[in-house]
Amino acid sequence: MDVDVIVIGSGQAGVPLAARLAGAGKRVILAERGAPGGTCINTGCTPTKTMIASARAAHVARNGRRLGVTAGKVQVDLAAIVERKNSIVAGWREAVMNRLKAGGERLTFIHGHARFTGDRRVEVNGEAHRAETVIVNVGARPIVPPIHGLDSIEWLDNHRLMDIRETPNHLLILGGGYVGCEFGQMFRRFGSEVTIVDAADHLMSREDPDISAQIEAVFEKEGIRLCLPTTAAAVSKSGNEVLVHPARGDQIRGSHLLVATGRRPNTDELGCEAAGIELDKHGFIVIDDQYRTSASGVYAVGDVTGEPQFTHVAWDDHRILFDLLLGRSKRGRSGRAYPYTAFTDPQLAGVGLTEREAKKQQISYEVTTLPYGSIARAIEVDETAGILKVLLDPKTEKVLGAAIVGAEAGELIHVFVALIQAGASARAIVDAQFVHPTFAEGVQSVVLNFARYAL
Ligand SMILES: Cc1cc2nc3c(=O)[nH]c(=O)nc-3n(C[C@H](O)[C@H](O)[C@H](O)COP(=O)(O)OP(=O)(O)OC[C@H]3O[C@@H](n4cnc5c(N)ncnc54)[C@H](O)[C@@H]3O)c2cc1C
Repeated sequence: MDVDVIVIGSGQAGVPLAARLAGAGKRVILAERGAPGGTCINTGCTPTKTMIASARAAHVARNGRRLGVTAGKVQVDLAAIVERKNSIVAGWREAVMNRLKAGGERLTFIHGHARFTGDRRVEVNGEAHRAETVIVNVGARPIVPPIHGLDSIEWLDNHRLMDIRETPNHLLILGGGYVGCEFGQMFRRFGSEVTIVDAADHLMSREDPDISAQIEAVFEKEGIRLCLPTTAAAVSKSGNEVLVHPARGDQIRGSHLLVATGRRPNTDELGCEAAGIELDKHGFIVIDDQYRTSASGVYAVGDVTGEPQFTHVAWDDHRILFDLLLGRSKRGRSGRAYPYTAFTDPQLAGVGLTEREAKKQQISYEVTTLPYGSIARAIEVDETAGILKVLLDPKTEKVLGAAIVGAEAGELIHVFVALIQAGASARAIVDAQFVHPTFAEGVQSVVLNFARYAL
């Protein structure tokens, strides 16, 4: 079938692009080989955060004593938690399908694996299609690391782990990034023993060590064992146990193994070579500032481009590309701030440069920190774990970067996101009034810690 646009993948950019382009009068095909809605809805953000809510409820119930409240024995029903998660995921999937149906006859949804066969030619389920414009939103999937023995044992990825109905006795996790950390704390709070193994010195090792250390302290207090830095050389099975064999040191034993060592792009079975789409050495699609690939008329958005792998990035890609395709704007993807949040408890959020990156790039900066324990709100609600850290450009007073570990960090970081995006001076925070008593007062207090703003 000949159409105006073919979208491959119904991720966080593909669905709104297909729906809005159809709404703008284009004839669109959207091809999806898996469940509609992509990673975020089905196996990423939505299910994890839904289950993390249950884990937090268990934690709060167990620890009410510190606030003078004692409840009965806390019981975790993982099957019920998984059912709740499934029903929320199903609701979002339905919402995606309804959005696509609203595209009417102009939008055709095809369930099947899509593959390029030539210049803007795509085959799905044996049928050939051609379009003026093709948008690739095929996302990424978990990396299978080259660890000896991994192919001979049963292991879990994020998808499979969220469908087990009985709490593991001892969950071993390879990978201390945000996925490993979120699952580690979740299952610890569900009642599992948890051990996290990572080759880096720290959890979430892109962060500055003082930021990671805050999460590590909380995890250790909750009884999560951290094996850092530990390189897993091999894995094996012994009876009902899974064994991780480090390059150095003793075997680590558990009942289940989660592998969360990163994600790779879904470009290996896409036929990129037939269409002349250039990939980088990791398989990500190379794009320019306006999402153009090396193949004329072919664009790529979301995780497959090698940009930071977050839903809000893919969604922002859709907004920018939509405007470009309709000639409504010439704005490209450069100049964006990329915030992120790990939904551990406390959360870890960041935007802009870390101190390590500023040093490496030889960018001059001033830095200051503030412990959460000095925020009135944090003391009142007994959520004192954490720290705020801000880097400032000494000349312009613009915020270069911010990192927050603490309660509601994922909300607070947006103060810095807006400031960075606007290119505004941190003085705006100094001059503003912040409501008392809120966690946001900590945002003002950390900035007031810079000598230039001292009271
Ligand atoms: C456990 C976990 C937790 C996460 N939590 C968060 C979070 O809290 N916040 C956040 O911002 N991000 C989170 N993410 C990341 C987020 O899910 C992704 O960045 C987001 O989904 C954007 O992906 P995308 O739109 O690029 O592609 P995806 O959502 O991955 O969609 C790509 C789609 O393309 C389909 N596809 C692939 N190849 C083909 C083909 N050849 N033919 C047809 N269809 C194809 C796939 O089936 C898939 O449905 C999380 C990820 C994981 C794994």
